[in-house]
Amino acid sequence: MAATQRQRKRSCRSSLRARSGSARVRSGSTPRCTRCLSIGTRDIRLTTRYAEDDLSGTSLFSTMHEAGHGVYEHGVSATLEGTPLASGCSSILHESQSRLWENVIGRSLPFWRWFYPRVQAAFPETLTGVSLERFHRAVNVTRPSLIRVDADETTYGLHIILRFELEQALLFGGLDTSDLPEAWNTRMRDLLGVDVPDDARGCLQDVHWAGGMFGYFPTYQLGNVVAAQIWERLLLDLPGAYDQIERGQFDEIHAWLRDRLYALGRKFTPAETIARVAGGPIDPEPYLAYLRDKSAALTRA
Ligand SMILES: [Zn+2]
Repeated sequence: MAATQRQRKRSCRSSLRARSGSARVRSGSTPRCTRCLSIGTRDIRLTTRYAEDDLSGTSLFSTMHEAGHGVYEHGVSATLEGTPLASGCSSILHESQSRLWENVIGRSLPFWRWFYPRVQAAFPETLTGVSLERFHRAVNVTRPSLIRVDADETTYGLHIILRFELEQALLFGGLDTSDLPEAWNTRMRDLLGVDVPDDARGCLQDVHWAGGMFGYFPTYQLGNVVAAQIWERLLLDLPGAYDQIERGQFDEIHAWLRDRLYALGRKFTPAETIARVAGGPIDPEPYLAYLRDKSAALTRA
């Protein structure tokens, strides 16, 4: 099954326009290990993960997330190559692109109108008789859960709030690391209403803190916010974007993002870059409207 999943992801990735020979995808060494590493703008390496018993798209979404980071780095203008400017502008902008390809595009109904028949053909025993609408609802179900990377778009932000609060408590609030598991479990119950069965599915589930990456988590949620702003702006210029996605055509969407964001690299500050591509400073309204509209559409379906 993992081989078939790999094949499906290759076909999806090539449709998303990773130039042949400049991107590689490999399995991660741990179940949750996904990464994007760029060595210049022409050598992009992704690791992803496969869940043998899970066809809900979890590993596809992880791959699309990392591919979003990859196309950003890959799209930096060649004229900046070899300078400190030849990279994504900031973590927030980087996560805006991973989350845009993963969620705004990857979890949309038009995307699955195009891609679901392929997945269904690859896994006929499991998916014959499962309608497109049912599958799409399944990959968008809103349900509080233990694991951040598997969280739905609506509850995802609560996982980030939990981590941000605990980071502040650890650094400035006198929370001892030995008390972290209990603090984590209590806050998970408060925010998401779930009981944490063990620390592997609790405070040890992410690699960030163990690697010294304190303060990174908010970039995911701010990335969601900026992604919605950029997408709203893109739709003004490309009102047929969803029709193109439904036909498996990503060239114009990719070119719009490349020309207005990726190509800039680090020529401007993060605030200047966000203003250029999104038309103004960080604003949560488009993100909230996106979540409300999506939730309403899924409820009606
Ligand atoms: Zn990411």
